[in-house]
Amino acid sequence: MNQFSLPDKPHQYQNFINGTYKTSISNKTFERESPGHGVTVGKYPLSTKEDTEEAITAAKVAFKSEKWSSLTGADREIIIRKAAGIIRARKKELALIETLESGKPISQALDEMEWAAGIWDYAATLARHIAGDVNTNVGSDMTAMMQKVPIGVVGMITPWNFPLLIISQKLPIALAAGCTAVIKPSEMTPGTTLLLGEILKEAGLPNGVVNIVAGYGDPVGVTLTESLDVDMISFTGSTEVGKQIVKSASVNLKKVELELGGKNPQIIFPDADIDALIDAIVFGVYFNMGECCNSGSRIIVHEDIAEEIENRVIEHSKDVKVGDPLDPSVKIGAIINKNQYDKIINCINSGIAQGAELKLGKDSGIDDNGFYISPTIFTKVQPHMDIAKEEIFGPVLSILTFKTAEEAIEIANNTPYGLSAGVWTKDLDTAMLMTRKIEAGTVWVNNWMSGYPEIPFGGMKQSGLGRELGPHSIDEYMETKSVLIKMGAKPGNWVKG
Ligand code: NDP
Repeated sequence: MNQFSLPDKPHQYQNFINGTYKTSISNKTFERESPGHGVTVGKYPLSTKEDTEEAITAAKVAFKSEKWSSLTGADREIIIRKAAGIIRARKKELALIETLESGKPISQALDEMEWAAGIWDYAATLARHIAGDVNTNVGSDMTAMMQKVPIGVVGMITPWNFPLLIISQKLPIALAAGCTAVIKPSEMTPGTTLLLGEILKEAGLPNGVVNIVAGYGDPVGVTLTESLDVDMISFTGSTEVGKQIVKSASVNLKKVELELGGKNPQIIFPDADIDALIDAIVFGVYFNMGECCNSGSRIIVHEDIAEEIENRVIEHSKDVKVGDPLDPSVKIGAIINKNQYDKIINCINSGIAQGAELKLGKDSGIDDNGFYISPTIFTKVQPHMDIAKEEIFGPVLSILTFKTAEEAIEIANNTPYGLSAGVWTKDLDTAMLMTRKIEAGTVWVNNWMSGYPEIPFGGMKQSGLGRELGPHSIDEYMETKSVLIKMGAKPGNWVKG
């Protein structure tokens, strides 16, 4: 029997401000329907500018009090690690909420909870590794200390595709650094992020250190980005909104860290291990319905093996199960909402109109129903076509071909994005050349989408600013304060010297 089912009634959520759950000052709420079922699954506070300002004040007061940053790294570690344990213990409940709100398959939501908990564990370890630096190489009477201090109040704005995972790439690292936070989850998937309030309270986090406000980009996100009391914004979402955030953040020159979109290529050379790559390509493009910044939405394959790769990818894609996200065997669930569904269908239509060949999908006999879109594959895609350059955020694969390595590099780099890329070859020289020439924050060789909390993640070009994860991620949330100490200080002689 499937242990995951629709709720009898919608979950009721509240904002989490200064350690307390509360309704919006407006007393209004908004609802979320499961995109896979059309059933209302959550009710959330429709927060206002005033709610957001209250949360910012709570975070600022908590930061100034130093009740969090003055704890030892070891004490912060204990609390962050406890939170990791609670996320694991509540994994099924959290995964179900994500599946109901986002339409993602339950099996992928369960995996996501494990990844998220793993990052909290890693961040807990980082909390003990803040040490700054010392330089005694600037004169025998001078000692310079580079102190690491938390940046302050961090506003975190997250999207709907991996709600708990994406906030987990930001929040525990910022907490390890000693920052406080105000979080605005996507209005479509706020449930698990709102539950982080009680998880953190149970773990022992002091009141006011983390505050969570549900609502729309305007006013909640805008209030955060424009606030003089917020010292940094960490944002994941579209490149378009990322650019608006950079503009709003200039009001007090707050630091901005951005994780944005991608149009990620996988380049396949004739000597590649074809058996190994077929499943990786299929996983890369359909995972999370393709609603993934790392979606491997373009393959660029050498023309000598193009026909074989196309045929095998198409055959393998036919076995990908589409349907009810609550079914544990389903691999492609529901698209997040009607807007996104329409956007994907428009992209498919533009591919057809611009002359690419639709080999699998909409017009190939597989029905799509409501917010469901089945695996869609285009061949004969040319670099100038929109489906070769634009992020579709759906289960749509564009296949392009190349003759020379130089041509493959040119096609791969022919987008404003630079998030991730893949190379399939057994030749070391070819692999190394590609890793150097492809403009992307991550390049996978003979695999796709491996990731670890220890390894930095982020984009070049219009895919982002800064890096999440990895040992240096904590520096994103810290300032360096240089302290220069002179021994045996003597009066100076600048005026007369
Ligand atoms: P958006 O960039 O529109 O939204 C991301 C977050 O920002 C949401 O919480 C949103 O609130 C908030 N927001 C919206 N406008 C503002 C603003 N002016 N100031 C501050 N915050 C704001 O992404 P979507 O979630 O709508 O997704 C749209 C597209 O973004 C996708 O089709 C995809 O191309 C891309 N995307 C990329 C992701 C990635 O990981 N790189 C993840 C998700 C999306 P609200 O919930 O009210 O919209």
